[in-house]
Amino acid sequence: MSRKGFEVSDEQWIYHGGEFVRLGEVRLSPATHALNYGTGVFEGIRAYWNESRGTLQVLKLREHYERFLNSCELLHIDCGHTVEELCEITLEILRRNAPREDTYIRPLAYKAAESIGVKLALPSELSIFTAPMANYVELTGLRCCVSSWRRVSDNAIPPRAKTTGSYINTALAVDAAHRAGYDEAIFLTQSGYVSEASAANIFLVRKGNLITPPPTADILEGITRAAVMELAEKELGMPVVERDVGRTELYAAEEVFFTGTGFQIAPVVEIDDHPIGGGRVGPVVERLQEMYFRAARGEWPEYEGWTVPVEVVHGAAR
Ligand code: PMP
Repeated sequence: MSRKGFEVSDEQWIYHGGEFVRLGEVRLSPATHALNYGTGVFEGIRAYWNESRGTLQVLKLREHYERFLNSCELLHIDCGHTVEELCEITLEILRRNAPREDTYIRPLAYKAAESIGVKLALPSELSIFTAPMANYVELTGLRCCVSSWRRVSDNAIPPRAKTTGSYINTALAVDAAHRAGYDEAIFLTQSGYVSEASAANIFLVRKGNLITPPPTADILEGITRAAVMELAEKELGMPVVERDVGRTELYAAEEVFFTGTGFQIAPVVEIDDHPIGGGRVGPVVERLQEMYFRAARGEWPEYEGWTVPVEVVHGAAR
C-alpha cells in the first residue's frame, strides 16, 4: 500500500472565521451542513522547501485560488475574498508557522449552517490549514487497476469543481483498489473511456505523443496536468494530444503516469496485471519528473513564475 496520511497539528496557525487562530481552538458542530451533506469545496496546494534559499516555494498559488473561487461559485459560496487576498492570507499562514519542510495547504469553504435540510442558500465559512507533506504516493512505479466504480459525471456531481462530497467516489475506488492489493485506481467515465486516477490526472506516451483525456472526460482540470503539458511541449518538443482514451490503450502504452499536486508526477508500471513499458519507469516520465521538481522548488530561473517564495525565518512561529 503506497498511500500515506499526514498529520495535521493542533498547534499550527490557520485562517478561520476571518482571523488567524490556532487549529486546536476551532470547534465545529456535528450539525454543520457540510458535514451532513458534503456541501463544501476545497483545494490542495503544495509549498516546496528550498534548503539553499531558506524559502518555501508555493507552487501555482494563483491558479489554485482561481479554481477554488470557481468551485465556490458552483455551490453559491461567497468566501468573502479575492484571489489576491487568499494568496496573501496563505503566505501569512506560512510565515507564522514557518515550516522548514515540504508543506501542503488546504483551503476549505463550506456551508456552515447548523440546520437540517438540503439546499445551498445558506451561510458559509472559509478555513485554510496546512500539513507537512512529503511524497503522497511512491514515485518509483505504481501498480494500478481500472476501477469497477465509474467516475461521477458532469451532470451528477461536476468533477470540474473540487467538492468535498464528490470524494466519496474517490474513496470507494481507492479503498477497493487497496483491498485488492493495488496501489491506485483508474476511473472510466460512464461511457467507458479513461477519465483519471483517484486524485490525479492520467497521461499516456504512445509513438512519441503525450496523450491525456480531455476536460469532457469528467476530469478535474488539473494544474499539474497543465504544467506537464507545458513542459512536454516546450522542453521535450512532444506533441500533446487531448482525446478520448480506451481502456486497452492503457495496456498498449509505452508509458503511463499520473499528475497531481499530491501525487506530483507518479509513474505507473502495471495496470490490471499488464506490465506497462516492460514494467519499468520510462524515459519520458523520468525527464518530466526531473524538470517538474526543479521548477517546483524554484531552482529553474525560466520557470520562476510557477512559484511564490516565502522566507522562513527560523523559529518564526508566533
Ligand atoms: N483529479 C482529481 C480528482 C484530484 O483530486 C486532483 C488533485 N487536486 C487532480 C486530478 C490533480 O489536480 P491538480 O494537478 O490541480 O492537483
